[in-house]
Amino acid sequence: MDWVTAFAATCGLWLINLLWQTPIVWGFERLTSRYPVAAERQLRGLAFTIVVVPVSVAISMTVRNAARSIHPLFDLHAIPGYAGHPTLTMGASAALSILLVDFAYYWTHRLQHTWPLLWRFHAQHHAIRDLSALNNYAHWSETLVGEVFKFLPVFLMIRLYPGIIGLIAGVFVAIHQGYIHSTSRLNFGRWSWFISDNVRHRIHHSIERQHFDKNFGIEFGFWDHLFGTAYVPMPDEWPETGVREQAEAKSLKDYWLWPRHEVVQADHGAIHEVAGRQVSLDGVDCAGVEPGA
Ligand SMILES: [Zn+2]
Ligand SMILES: [Zn+2]
Repeated sequence: MDWVTAFAATCGLWLINLLWQTPIVWGFERLTSRYPVAAERQLRGLAFTIVVVPVSVAISMTVRNAARSIHPLFDLHAIPGYAGHPTLTMGASAALSILLVDFAYYWTHRLQHTWPLLWRFHAQHHAIRDLSALNNYAHWSETLVGEVFKFLPVFLMIRLYPGIIGLIAGVFVAIHQGYIHSTSRLNFGRWSWFISDNVRHRIHHSIERQHFDKNFGIEFGFWDHLFGTAYVPMPDEWPETGVREQAEAKSLKDYWLWPRHEVVQADHGAIHEVAGRQVSLDGVDCAGVEPGA
């Protein structure tokens, strides 16, 4: 299959997945929500997610094709007996894929909060005020960051064979990512140290200072406990979300052109950057920031 055909087929597959997963995620949130979520915000978030599909697919295919041409350090089939047991190989591959990629994502995510260049783009995801299962879009460059920092190291380290079990696991991962941004009343309680839930991830998106740079884990909560960034929320803790000095993208133009000009490295470090100037946390000068930018 040539590149263009593979590209078109992969885009189609992504869109079909969105088509059937969206009503499930939307319906679940609607039935269990803490409060009504504005339909207009949901549709806007969904539109931002859909328009970025061709870009994400192109980036993902390019990086993964390059990775396939390099022989990894270790091949799961090198373990005696694995190659002859497809179900065992697929199950172990799927579990390992999720674990290793989530570990790599934990550190990538920390880098996104500490490296100002990456924060400028990651801030688009954090600027969302009305966070929900469908309104949780991210900047298109996050695919590039994810492929290079999350997937590439795992591809270069180990060759896995997730097969159909990997595809099924991928669907659960996608739905889980909608759930952790949802407004659902249902959560995993004290088990969120293992599988992350929406209350834990809400803390990561919080606008309140005591929650900054906490709960970086996406699928699993234990990375944060292991590496000292865990914040275990109280049962009734449900903070506002957003970036204090940064308006969210309101149109497709805003979305694509982000960061158009002033992006504040809001509260995630000792320094704020406004219109190329740096100001201290205590003397935040946001005169240059236009609402809606
Ligand atoms: Zn983040
Ligand atoms: Zn998030």
